[in-house]
Amino acid sequence: MSEPERHEVLCRKALTVRGVVQGVGFRPFVFRLAAEEKLAGFIGNDTGGVTIEIEGPAERVEAFLRRLHAEAPPLARIDSLLSQEIPPKQEEKFRIVASEAHGQVSTGIPADAATCADCLRELLDSHDRRYRYPFLNCTNCGPRYTITRRIPYDRPQTSMACFKMCAACQAEYDDPANRRFHAQPNACAVCGPRVWLVGADGNEIPSVDPIAETINRLLAGEIIAIKGIGGFHLSVDATNETAVMRLRERKRRYGKPLAVMVRDLDAARAVCAPTPEDESLLLTVPRPIVLARRREDSGIAAAVAPGIPWLGIFLPYAPLQHLLFADSRVRALVMTSANLSEEPICIDNEEAIQRLGEIADAFLMHDRKILQRCDDSVMAVVDGAPQLIRRARGFVPLSVPLPIDSPPLLAVGGHLKNVFTLARGRFAYQSQHLGDLENLTGLDFFRESLAHLMHTFEIEPEAVVHDLHPGYLSTSWAKEWAAERNLPLVSVQHHHAHIAACMAENLLSGPVIGLSLDGTGYGTDGKIWGGEVLIVDLGGPDPGKFERFAHLDYVPMPGGEAAIREPWRMAFGALHAAGFDVESPEILKLLNAKPREARILKRMIEGELNAPLTSSLGRLFDAAAAVVLGRGVVDYEAQAAIELEGCAVDEPDDLGSGYTLQLLQGDWNTRKPTRISAEPLWQELLKDLREGADKARIASRFHAGVAAGFVNAAANARIETGIHQIAMSGGCLHNRRLARLLRAGLEEEGFQVFQHRNVSPGDGGLSYGQAVVAAAKLKAES
Ligand SMILES: [Zn+2]
Ligand SMILES: [Zn+2]
Ligand SMILES: [Zn+2]
Repeated sequence: MSEPERHEVLCRKALTVRGVVQGVGFRPFVFRLAAEEKLAGFIGNDTGGVTIEIEGPAERVEAFLRRLHAEAPPLARIDSLLSQEIPPKQEEKFRIVASEAHGQVSTGIPADAATCADCLRELLDSHDRRYRYPFLNCTNCGPRYTITRRIPYDRPQTSMACFKMCAACQAEYDDPANRRFHAQPNACAVCGPRVWLVGADGNEIPSVDPIAETINRLLAGEIIAIKGIGGFHLSVDATNETAVMRLRERKRRYGKPLAVMVRDLDAARAVCAPTPEDESLLLTVPRPIVLARRREDSGIAAAVAPGIPWLGIFLPYAPLQHLLFADSRVRALVMTSANLSEEPICIDNEEAIQRLGEIADAFLMHDRKILQRCDDSVMAVVDGAPQLIRRARGFVPLSVPLPIDSPPLLAVGGHLKNVFTLARGRFAYQSQHLGDLENLTGLDFFRESLAHLMHTFEIEPEAVVHDLHPGYLSTSWAKEWAAERNLPLVSVQHHHAHIAACMAENLLSGPVIGLSLDGTGYGTDGKIWGGEVLIVDLGGPDPGKFERFAHLDYVPMPGGEAAIREPWRMAFGALHAAGFDVESPEILKLLNAKPREARILKRMIEGELNAPLTSSLGRLFDAAAAVVLGRGVVDYEAQAAIELEGCAVDEPDDLGSGYTLQLLQGDWNTRKPTRISAEPLWQELLKDLREGADKARIASRFHAGVAAGFVNAAANARIETGIHQIAMSGGCLHNRRLARLLRAGLEEEGFQVFQHRNVSPGDGGLSYGQAVVAAAKLKAES
């Protein structure tokens, strides 16, 4: 360090930096910055983030602080920086000190990051020592969360611990000026993990170049299980109809769209028509699956995403994937999570052969262990901005802020698409997408992930939060777990939690008018809710409660759960409720039902036998899809609604053209909710059908009518409550047409509208909302 000039005052500051600052090249960045500013001191990781002491002339310390924020590495995120003046120690040098492993954990483990441009260049450079090495990475990219056992994030705590670095890698790792300084997964072909190919019988297939062999097999139509970052993918050539069909049959997954990986943006443009927003989303570091409009001439097999005009596409994010696409014959690959239907994704080599042996023709394996399962994340541009649909790789375990201080607590989420949330202070940590909690495999994944995140963030819950539904596996598990630990339980109504999630994400405490538009959730009256206008106030005297201002009028679900799998039953129930003669030849023909079936269903409804009542908007969409598109039975959740949205994709947004939802006024003074009746909607829709109107037009008028109906209900709620802020949440908000129409209509009415961006509006966001309601309730009670 240079001698400070006489007029310069020596100053030393102790800095505590919180956020994502470990495993992202933060220490070498600070080291370089200190060198450039000719400052002394040190930096070290601690379990709370990083600690820095910096010493030198005051103005250079100031410059250092400015640059610390402005020039931080791409994967770093500074959430807070505490700075304290301390006495100078007259040091000469700046050092990087060893990690400490004590104290309360509040640092984020970094999320997994896609291969950076520098690494990609090396991968394809025949003169580079890492030419075609499928595991190269640096401090700006590579696996993080999925290979980490615990923090602090250091190599011995990762699945790279068993690979001893060669001299060349070690030299990079030790050199603060190198891009790989303290890059924990640093490796090369000499010292790091390797790939090999295994047949369905579990025996290695000898091959000089397993990747080239994999490509040949894919191009020949084989199904290959490829080990990735957060788990195995099942892959086939996406342009090969027969291969895609074979994958579907073996995976027993018929209708659900499959994600497609393409080489780069040009390749994405050849199969889809991505908007500029879609394109920037495709290139973000998590490399999510993005829903984009499919091209007619895409060349992608129809079986990849039957019945819908979109394709879920994504770009390679691991070097191994880049190597597959380095062969120009590979255009597009189906890359779907390797599992059977909704089971957790497969991560272990042995487990893969056992579970996928019947599906895959061969396995491209490697020996870098995946310690945390993590599916690919899914996003879509909704109403002009990105929205998270499935939160997983690239996002976990980054924290999401909370609008209020929370005691340490666990919120277990719902039933489908489960995600749990651990909360403490002003942060919530959401788990990765865990899938459906319907069986023990799902529950095992839940437990495994919970143990890991509790350990990682050192959170010992002091309360447990669950859904109101007594029958959910998550509810009974929560009750048992809380009883074992003698912890208080908080239950939160499903649609209340959805709205709270949207409020929290937007840092609102309320009161708001909440539009909770959803599939199914258990209501406080024991009925199945999902088309709700709620008044929610997290800052009020009783934040555990909400008011129900309005809801879709109840209709029967003949056969209960069966009506979810068979939308024609839902249509039957809805038309019956709307006063149609459901045994008439017209309705029977429309629903493709036999007179006998109609008789049974009618008896169920009128005898109130296994025909629970629902106010769900998701079910209204199902019913409409059954009537308009003949979608009588679904293969996957929300298929009918997605197809109805798809059918209208080229129709202009025209809120005024909608069918009528009628408001049957309640009495706000006695808290009697307004009912939103779909009776006129059905009359008008069936009239259009009789007159042979275009299906796309009918689907468009249906969306517009639903949006206008809820805008009207919200306007009525404002008259009674004076509230002008709206929070929109629930699974139906995945419907982009509906989200657009609602926002436009509400803003035209002068409302301030809030929606989800970083948290899923669907049940993936439920536990976050549960946590917020519980935190507010516990705070109000204390
Ligand atoms: Zn890199
Ligand atoms: Zn090496
Ligand atoms: Zn829901």
